[in-house]
Amino acid sequence: MTQTQRPIPVMQPWTRDFWKATKQGKLLIQHCDNCNSNIFFPKKVCPECWSDHLDWQEASGKATVYTFTTMLDMVEPKFMGDLPYVIAMVDLKEGIRMTTRIVNCNPDDVEIGMNVEVVFEEVSPECSLPMFQPADETLRLASPDSEDGEAVAAESETGMSPDAYQTIIYEIGGNNDAVCTITLNRPDKYNAINRRMAAELIDAFRRVRDEASVGVVVLAGAGEKAFCTGGDLEIFPSLAEHQNSLNWLSHEGLDVQRAISSCEKVVICKINGHCLAGGLEVALACDLLYVKESAKMGTTEINMGVLPGWGGTARLPRSMPIFRAREIIFSGRKDYTAREMYDMGLLTRVFKDDEFEAQFEKVVNNIASKKPVALRMGKEIMARSADGCDMETALAVERNGIQWLTYAPDIQKMMDQFRAAPDQLTQSQKKSNIASDAT
Ligand SMILES: [Zn+2]
Repeated sequence: MTQTQRPIPVMQPWTRDFWKATKQGKLLIQHCDNCNSNIFFPKKVCPECWSDHLDWQEASGKATVYTFTTMLDMVEPKFMGDLPYVIAMVDLKEGIRMTTRIVNCNPDDVEIGMNVEVVFEEVSPECSLPMFQPADETLRLASPDSEDGEAVAAESETGMSPDAYQTIIYEIGGNNDAVCTITLNRPDKYNAINRRMAAELIDAFRRVRDEASVGVVVLAGAGEKAFCTGGDLEIFPSLAEHQNSLNWLSHEGLDVQRAISSCEKVVICKINGHCLAGGLEVALACDLLYVKESAKMGTTEINMGVLPGWGGTARLPRSMPIFRAREIIFSGRKDYTAREMYDMGLLTRVFKDDEFEAQFEKVVNNIASKKPVALRMGKEIMARSADGCDMETALAVERNGIQWLTYAPDIQKMMDQFRAAPDQLTQSQKKSNIASDAT
């Protein structure tokens, strides 16, 4: 569920009991035995008298709204899916003022002085957050964990199958079924991503994680016109739906990028025709970019007064020299040639148009011939390093990854053979890194 992407509170030794209680549906407040103060948020010592003789009392959970604000826009992306939502300060009967959210009701119904009561929202297996809902049951909406909510969640996990995809094609093939090809299939719309396609892509990239035979995913666009031109502008049906559309763009659109970057396979992007705006951003989430020479690329968002919102401003500067990344984003050009982009340091490789298919197939077949788990580990180790951790951490991650790989029975067997009778090894095994490392 999307809940796990939100930041969760860091537990400290002196707050652990508080969080343990919220998990059990209880709201505890700290009480000073020395001066009789009630204390919130949990502290190591009493802020009134500096005593450390503190204990816990269970709060009634009844409160009134002291003040509140309704968040409509411009929040941390992780919370975009919750919009609109109400942040409030509430006064508990016990004399404590808490910052919290008012939930399970229409934001328009929230008022200063309104009576509210505590509810708990599970945000991780270890943590539930105390929030407040109207005491007046007639103001409450169905809570998120009602039966309806569960039915929707169950459907989204199991309701989709590759046969039912309408906007993408999902095929597994190649030697040993090592290649999964996911094709954006709206060629008449330049393979633009609408809500359906976003949902199908997220499903497909999660599905392929569990395909043990697959080491490589090819992401391609159907037809000759485009790889992808980004979000389908038809998703903005009217101004009234502007907020919904913004939520969709920033939330579900970003989820597509996350599904690609976390799919645990090497994702190879096959780019021909136009690769623009969100289409280029989708490509940036992939591991390798192979491009047909006649392709045209760029980020065009700034021409509409906005900016790339699917990771473009985050990923471009990490994918190429920053002075060139800035030009791409600021210029809004949509006619960068593949060669230009390659010369600027962005792409893996550019192939001439008449050689593109054959060369691309060669690249894919070669990488797909490698052991899937080694590809996956390589992707993870390099991602950690590229994310900018320090050298010692990067080396430790690498060391752990290699140790983990060498525990595999087939690698152990090969090393045993090598130790027993090096001459019996085949030529290719002798050449492999594992064999030479073992010497
Ligand atoms: Zn005290």
